Amino acid sequence: MKIGILSRNSKLYSTRRLIEACEQRGHQAVVIDALHCYMNINSDQPSIHSKGESLDDFYAIIPRIGASVTFYGCAVLRQFEMMGVFPVNESVAITRSRDKLRSMQLLSRRKVGMPITGFASKPDDIKDLLDMVGGAPVVIKLLEGTQGIGVVLAETRKAAESVIEAFLGLRVNIMVQEFIKEADGADIRCFVIGDRVIAAMKRQGAEGEFRSNLHRGGSASLVRITPEERRTAVEAAKVMGLRVAGVDLLRSNRGPLVMEVNSSPGLEGIESATGKDVAGMIIEYIEKNAKPQRTRTRGKG
Ligand code: ADP
Ligand code: MG
Repeated sequence: MKIGILSRNSKLYSTRRLIEACEQRGHQAVVIDALHCYMNINSDQPSIHSKGESLDDFYAIIPRIGASVTFYGCAVLRQFEMMGVFPVNESVAITRSRDKLRSMQLLSRRKVGMPITGFASKPDDIKDLLDMVGGAPVVIKLLEGTQGIGVVLAETRKAAESVIEAFLGLRVNIMVQEFIKEADGADIRCFVIGDRVIAAMKRQGAEGEFRSNLHRGGSASLVRITPEERRTAVEAAKVMGLRVAGVDLLRSNRGPLVMEVNSSPGLEGIESATGKDVAGMIIEYIEKNAKPQRTRTRGKG
């Protein structure tokens, strides 16, 4: 099969591993840089070109769309869907999961456990917003943040008010969240493929750090997850409509709480923490499930 990997950089660990896994299993891998593609959108025969050539005959596409290229990356993926190519994750599901507010609303609608979370743009009553989420300590997050940057722990009410005021001055959207102290600076990354968690790792923040991000000095290790954690992760991926997802959970006194659902989860951390061939499992999933014209939405909004 000819499998396209929608990625901007063929040297990234995840992209390299996916190429390797395709070739090991006897498939042809082609890395496609979405930003270099141009498309012909018409009702007869939608097409995609890159470097003067038509991108035809793909059996499946593995989207690895970075946050900064979501808009155009998803448009290119949608075009492949209109051509009947099977996407590992559909464009609508990726767009959905990139919007944190929308994701949390969808998860709460399906009663998936999550930290009590308030959203605000220009709250006219910061005190009431804080009361709404149970008061200090709270975690305040920039909606657009990644890798732990823009995530602040405010231990007292005064600190929380000042941080919210500061963010307000910057005109950014924020999330104010109940602080899950008992998570103890750790979270669990569950790697979901289809309806199974195929690998899980625990990320522990550096000493004195409540954020477990590896980019902030956290370390990853193999972890056994409970059946409830397994169910929660699979349900969260399903609610988002993602076939492959990285679901981040916090271990709380009231069970697993979903913090984030990632549509392009990295492979390096999870493969080295668990020793599993996650890239190979993604290709295996394609072998078993991909069929032309089987996209559920075929690019529909
Ligand atoms: P980012 O998208 O930047 O990674 P996260 O929302 O994942 O932001 O937060 C970064 C880290 O901070 C998490 O991995 C977790 O360890 C910690 N954290 C985030 N929210 C909470 C919370 N409500 N309670 C306790 N720890 C949290
Ligand atoms: Mg995170």
